[in-house]
Amino acid sequence: MPVERTENRGADELHRYYEVYETIGSGGFAKVKLGRHIATGEKVAIKIMNKKDLGDDLPRVKVEIEAMKNLSHQHVCRLYQVIETSTQIFMVLEYCPGGELFDYIIAKDRLSEEETRVFFRQIVSAMAYVHSQGYAHRDLKPENLLIDEDHNLKLIDFGLCAKPKGGLGYELMTCCGSPAYAAPELIQGKAYIGSEADVWSMGVLLFALLCGYLPFDDDNCMVLYRKIMRGNYDNPRWLSPGSILILNQMMQVDPKRRLSVRQLLDHPWVVKDYNSPVEWHSRQPLGHIDEDSITEMAVNMKRSRESTTALVKEWRYDHTTATYLLLLSKKQRGKPVRLHPEPAVCEDSCSPLHRGLQSRDILHFSEDEDAVIVGSLDLSSEYIDDCPWISVTQQGFRGQPDGLTNNKNVRVTSPSVDKRCAYTTTPDRGRATTQNHQKRKDRDQEQTSENKENIVVQEKEVEIFALPLPRTPASSKKNARHNKNVLTTPNQNANAINSKPNAVTPKGGSASKEHKKRTENKELVNIEVLAFSPERRSRSLDMAGTGDSGKKKRGGKMFGSLERGLDKVITMLTPSKRRGLRDGPRKIKAQYNVTLTSQTNPDQVLNQILSILPEKNVDFTQKGYTLKCQTCGDFGKVTMAFELEVCMLQRPEVVGVRRQRLKGDAWVYKHLVEDILSTSSI
Ligand code: ADP
Repeated sequence: MPVERTENRGADELHRYYEVYETIGSGGFAKVKLGRHIATGEKVAIKIMNKKDLGDDLPRVKVEIEAMKNLSHQHVCRLYQVIETSTQIFMVLEYCPGGELFDYIIAKDRLSEEETRVFFRQIVSAMAYVHSQGYAHRDLKPENLLIDEDHNLKLIDFGLCAKPKGGLGYELMTCCGSPAYAAPELIQGKAYIGSEADVWSMGVLLFALLCGYLPFDDDNCMVLYRKIMRGNYDNPRWLSPGSILILNQMMQVDPKRRLSVRQLLDHPWVVKDYNSPVEWHSRQPLGHIDEDSITEMAVNMKRSRESTTALVKEWRYDHTTATYLLLLSKKQRGKPVRLHPEPAVCEDSCSPLHRGLQSRDILHFSEDEDAVIVGSLDLSSEYIDDCPWISVTQQGFRGQPDGLTNNKNVRVTSPSVDKRCAYTTTPDRGRATTQNHQKRKDRDQEQTSENKENIVVQEKEVEIFALPLPRTPASSKKNARHNKNVLTTPNQNANAINSKPNAVTPKGGSASKEHKKRTENKELVNIEVLAFSPERRSRSLDMAGTGDSGKKKRGGKMFGSLERGLDKVITMLTPSKRRGLRDGPRKIKAQYNVTLTSQTNPDQVLNQILSILPEKNVDFTQKGYTLKCQTCGDFGKVTMAFELEVCMLQRPEVVGVRRQRLKGDAWVYKHLVEDILSTSSI
């Protein structure tokens, strides 16, 4: 009984102060949901962990929390509040709506040197700060760098970080992180210096930014380790001499010959076009007290400024800390430093806001960010399930507000899926790798120069890189042939497998109103449609030039390409909970995680994808135009989870496919989704 009580108190505390929305990501330990802090109205990310599931990894979470409490930097994701119960831990974090840097890279195929430099300087800034605080991150990769609303990077996931007692110069022993980014000394199980290992990972990351694939890659771990320990990789020909040099200096097998972060701060490549070293000091130092935020809180809590300051200065990472930091964040973004007039920081659930929460009213974000109460939701255990939509599969979609449940949910399980690790062992994967391998060999023979300086042992074997699938128009043709079986009659296929999208009557007039609003939206840019057809692809490539000649001449791109200016105006859509109310697909703005097609019929696109998923051993559940997909490994363990959503773009008026990885290795996900979309030939 006491356990249950504590449990309820924890959940109550969360719901007293936050509204909890959909899952926006999941990692090795956690599920992350979008939330809104009621008192300030600010969006937050809520990282939810079940202690039972964490098992021996529980100390890692403690490490992460302690590290994040000690870090406050413009390029490190901010921790606002921690709620711990006997069974769960909730971390309330700064929300980064721009998604993972990983998705951004793959959407653009690769980044230009100029754009890479912008991001890389931010990574150097974050790492210099993190190291200055005595921490090594040890899991640096593009999945752990998120993009905020201003298109700046924020470092996340400090679960593997280390703070050696004697300082960062002391050696560490634990081998951790993601193999492809791990330094040779880590792989060899040697004692290593955390900051040196981080620089290696930064080198791998820099390579991934500039090239769109990994310098060391192999499905077989042992082969991958050998490659890393040899430290030789190919430099594609589009890399400038300066880029080749800095990569080489960072990916030195001997850690003592590697650049340090300090050296990176004013490295010629890093400084180029800026003429100034990287600014790494925190613009928001820990412990800083902002008078405006204190005043607002004091008025709201009916306390003196002195006692409010004293309360905030306890830095307990409770609701007081969260309120203060979120007010500060509002101020820094030029928003009014205002709280709701009710005593939002009081401990009892006295305010109407609190009462509203207890009755589980759900405040939905509309696309223009106005909040509209549209329904009531039982949140009892929705956010503690291991993977909500997997349990949904078994139990039907629950936890949806009334009025949104009128869906036909379909679960399709491919026959072999439980026995296979969908991407590492399927024939498709093998085929893809072989095709890529050959293509890569052809391309590399003419395009690469060897990274000789870095070679410890001369590499003889042929490297197999898991490159994106259809790099060339020829491969697209091949993929188009695969598509023979695809039913193209709208709805025919959907009906056949009971998957017709939602047929709930839309609210009268809302569509035209929305359309009008969007038409007026001056932010929209022109988008080059990149279809998965050879002709379209090459045309688009010509138009999507980045000033990087190598890029233009290469084969096709994987994902829908957006015109050059788009990255300037990437505005992530506020998730709309109204999608279930619509008869058709959601209408969204172009985002980099949306693949554009050349088609105008969403049902046709949906049907094409639906017919491909079983072929790729992907299980899915369908809800309207959203497909919640997963692959399973041995013993039915979910190895990968992602969403594909067929949606309508407005300018141009074509169908797009929004994709979001929820779980699993990012590069395997990339290959799988590319495979699905290119085979669908949409
Ligand atoms: P884990 O510690 O289990 O690996 P992460 O902290 O890496 O979990 O989070 C998992 C995923 O959730 C991330 O890759 C990202 O997609 C999403 N995510 C995490 N934190 C945030 C955030 N602050 N804002 C937006 N999305 C986030």
